[in-house]
Amino acid sequence: MRPFQKYFCAIAISLWAVSPGHAQLLVAPTLHIRAEAGSGRVALTLDACGGRTDARILSALVENKIPATIFVTGIWLKHNAAAVEIMRAHPELFELENHGGRHIPAVDTPQKIYGIRSAGSPEAVLAEVESGAAALAVTGEPAPKWFRGATAEYSPSAIAMIRKLGFKIAGFSVNGDGGSLLGAKETARRIAAAEDGDVIIAHINQPTHAAGEGVVQGLLALKAKGLTFVRLDDADGVGDEGTTD
Ligand SMILES: [Zn+2]
Repeated sequence: MRPFQKYFCAIAISLWAVSPGHAQLLVAPTLHIRAEAGSGRVALTLDACGGRTDARILSALVENKIPATIFVTGIWLKHNAAAVEIMRAHPELFELENHGGRHIPAVDTPQKIYGIRSAGSPEAVLAEVESGAAALAVTGEPAPKWFRGATAEYSPSAIAMIRKLGFKIAGFSVNGDGGSLLGAKETARRIAAAEDGDVIIAHINQPTHAAGEGVVQGLLALKAKGLTFVRLDDADGVGDEGTTD
């Protein structure tokens, strides 16, 4: 066997090995809010996947009265009681929505997405969505209406299942912080470039990452430009891939 053939065989085998069953094609849905006359409005969504709370972002939102939709997991809720208290003390600013019980991708076949193992079965997707809602119910927050799965990628069959449970699925149109891995400057640039109707995604659970500083800078730039911030429960979000209709 020639070297390059060997190489391709090795790739094929390793792909097969990490993807038991057949890997489904996944979708990463988008979400927009309806544009509005005036200087424009955007929806800020922040994921709290696990870990801690980025106080730089949380205090900037409170000080500048910037409303946000926070997608929280059961794991994050368990370890961030003080942050939840601050959010609950400002119901006019914070809407808490469902990011799953254990931060497991809502994909009903076994595969890995960005290195994270998918739920792997319809039952496990169901458990992830319902345990996320149950964790939120314990906080006394209103029942969540939106779901965003870990990695924000889904199998189409999982999307149908989650819709049947009554949740809309929150895609986005501006990837603000690249999974919290971007530098402060690039994060600020991306967020500041958001336009009327955009839904921004970033993270509020990585206090040690440089991206958090960029989130604050980007938001303040948008505010200075006169854009209004709305939460998902105050806007008619329209998503593709059957996520909202
Ligand atoms: Zn997440």
